[in-house]
Amino acid sequence: MLNDDYNFQWKDIGDIMEGRPNLGNQTHVAAYRLMQYTMRSVLNKRLGGKMAEELFFEAGKLAGEEFCKNILDTALDFYPFIAQLQQKLQELNIGILRIEETNLETMKFIFVLAEDLDCSGLPLTNETVCDYDEGFISGLFKAYTQKDFDVKEIDCWSSGERVCRFKISLKDE
Ligand SMILES: [Zn+2]
Repeated sequence: MLNDDYNFQWKDIGDIMEGRPNLGNQTHVAAYRLMQYTMRSVLNKRLGGKMAEELFFEAGKLAGEEFCKNILDTALDFYPFIAQLQQKLQELNIGILRIEETNLETMKFIFVLAEDLDCSGLPLTNETVCDYDEGFISGLFKAYTQKDFDVKEIDCWSSGERVCRFKISLKDE
């Protein structure tokens, strides 16, 4: 069992090619969703949906910060940085990112993610479910700008759209 004060570090992902010489680094999206939605089911029942949502956001935020620090080049200017992000998200089969609105003065953005790993193809529930992605984007922005951002998913496959759409804004001080 991991310690109570366990801190995730990128190296905890391990040496996948050494550990899985035959299976390699690929898995089925169903395996990822099985993990996520069974975890969600247990957390919702134990802690309530609201708390589960917060925990998913928080974990996503940690993931976004670590992803940014370990995979992306934070020295890049905004547009090259976003281009690199788009490329990495596609390489890892996480989703296809498009930037719908950018305002570098007000620091407001709208990101659209198509074929999202977490939700594309899910049954429709009229709710947005990508709390982890919200946190992930907030973590990315935090690691890139050192500032806190609010991120809210306003459209999701689950809510009946064909894509996830995220509204991003600088958090009020
Ligand atoms: Zn979604």
